[in-house]
Amino acid sequence: MDMTIAKDAIDFIDHAKLDRLVGETREDAGRVRDILAKSMSKQALTVEETSVLLATESPELVEEIFESARQLKRDVYGNRIVLFAPLYIGNHCMNDCKYCGFRRSLRTAVRRTLNDQELEREILELEKIGHKRLILVYGEHPNYSPEFIAHTVEIAYKTKIGPGEIRRVNINAAPLDVEGFRTVKASGIGTYQIFQETYHRPTYAQYHPVETRKGNYFWRLNAMDRALQAGCDDVGIGVLFGLYDWRWEVLALVSHAIHLQQEFNVGPHTISFPRIQPAHGLDLALPYRMTDAQFKRMVAILRLAVPYTGLIMTARESAAVRNDVMEFGVSQIDAGTRLEIGAYQEDKSKSQELDREQFKIGDERQLDETIHWLIDQGYIPSFCTSCYRLGRTGEHFMEFAIPGFINRFCTPNALLTLSEYLNDYASPETKAAGEKLVASELAKYQEGKIKPILTERLTMVNQGQHDLYF
Ligand code: SAM
Ligand code: SF4
Repeated sequence: MDMTIAKDAIDFIDHAKLDRLVGETREDAGRVRDILAKSMSKQALTVEETSVLLATESPELVEEIFESARQLKRDVYGNRIVLFAPLYIGNHCMNDCKYCGFRRSLRTAVRRTLNDQELEREILELEKIGHKRLILVYGEHPNYSPEFIAHTVEIAYKTKIGPGEIRRVNINAAPLDVEGFRTVKASGIGTYQIFQETYHRPTYAQYHPVETRKGNYFWRLNAMDRALQAGCDDVGIGVLFGLYDWRWEVLALVSHAIHLQQEFNVGPHTISFPRIQPAHGLDLALPYRMTDAQFKRMVAILRLAVPYTGLIMTARESAAVRNDVMEFGVSQIDAGTRLEIGAYQEDKSKSQELDREQFKIGDERQLDETIHWLIDQGYIPSFCTSCYRLGRTGEHFMEFAIPGFINRFCTPNALLTLSEYLNDYASPETKAAGEKLVASELAKYQEGKIKPILTERLTMVNQGQHDLYF
C-alpha cells in the first residue's frame, strides 16, 4: 500500500502512538478513578487517558465507568433525547466500499434518485407524523453536486403541511472542497456529517479500492477541516465499527476531536458509531465484529472522553440494544426509519427490501411507538432545533454547554416540542403518557424565573401555538 501522504494533507492520526497505546496500556484501578474524576468535572480526556479506560476489563471497574457515564450524561444532556429521521435522496455511487449495499460493483442494487416531486412527497410524509429534523443522505456521484445537495435542502425547508415543517436539515454526503461546502452551507444546513469508516490506513485501503474517490484516505480525513474553513460550524464524525479494532478507532475519534478543537476552537458536534449490518450482496468475513458488550463500553467511554459532543445511536441497532445502551450517553436517535429510496410514501407495514437500501436496520418501530417507549423509560423525546436557529452552534454551542444550560434551554425546549407533538400527532396512549411526563418535569422546576415563562409557553402550545423556544 502507498503510505506516502499528499503534500497538503493534515495527518493528526498518529498510527504508531495508537498502536502502542492499544497494545501496551494495562488496567490500572488508581488511574481509572483519577480519570473518571476528571471526566466528572466535564473536562475532555486525552488520548492516553482514554486508552486507560479502554484497557479496563474487570467487571467492577467497568461498572464504575458505566456509572460515571450515566451520571455525566444526566449532568450534561439531562434526560432528553433528540429525534430525527434519515432521508435517502439517491443511491447512485461511484465508490466501491466493500461493506455497502450501494457500492458500484453491485449490479443487482436498484438505483434511483428522488426527483423534486418525489422528494416533496417524502418530506410531507415525514411531517405528517411529526418529524422536525432530517438528515439527508446521498451516495457519492457527479449527479450529487453541491448545487444539487443545496437544492434538496431548500426543498426540505420549503415543503410544509399544516403545522408540519422541517426546522433543521443535516446532511451526510461525500466530502466536498471548500467551495462546495460554502454552497451547501448557504442552503442552511445544520450539521455536516461524514464518517471516516476506519481511521486505520491499512484497513481503510482494504475496504476502499484505491482507484475510487473514497480510496483517498486524506481527502476524507481532512473533510471536516475544509467544512469548518467554509463556515459549516457543526460537523459530525464517526466510525463504522467492525472494520478494525474498536479500541484503536475510539482513540482515533478522540484524536480527531482534539485536532478540531485545537485548530478551530470547536470539537465535533456529534459522533456516530454505526456497526456493520447485513446488506444486499454482502458476504464479508469481519474479524473485528464488535459484540454488544464492547458496544456498550465504547459508548460509555466516548461519553466520558468527549463530554460536550452529542452521541448518535442509529436504528441499525435493535430496540433491545438501544434500550440497554441509551443511558450511557446517547443524545440523539433516529425513529420510524426507512432506508429504501422513496419508502416513506409507501405502505408503512411493508418489510425491508435489501436490494433497495444500503443495509438492514435493527429497530423498525414507528415514530409514535418510539416516543412512547422513550417516555416510559423516563426520557423526554425532543424535536428541539433552537440552538441552531439562535446561532448557538460551533464555538457558541460549546460556550453554552455550561452549568444550567440544560435547565434553561434544553429541557424547556424539549417539553415545548414534545407538547406540540402530543397535540398534533400522537396516538391517544402516547398523548396520555406524554402529558403526565410534561407535568412531572414541570413540577421539578423550582419557583423562579424559568418556571412561570415555561408554564405560560406550554399553555400557549396547548392553545395551538407552534414553534416557541428558548
Ligand atoms: N456515500 C456517503 C459516504 O459513504 O460517506 C454518504 C452516505 S453512506 C450512504 C452513510 C454511512 O453508512 C457510511 O458512511 C457508512 O458508515 C454506513 N454504512 C455503509 N454500509 C453499511 C452497512 N453495511 N452497515 C452499516 N452501516 C453502513
Ligand atoms: Fe457509496 Fe457511501 Fe456506500 Fe461507499 S458507503 S459505496 S461511498 S454510498
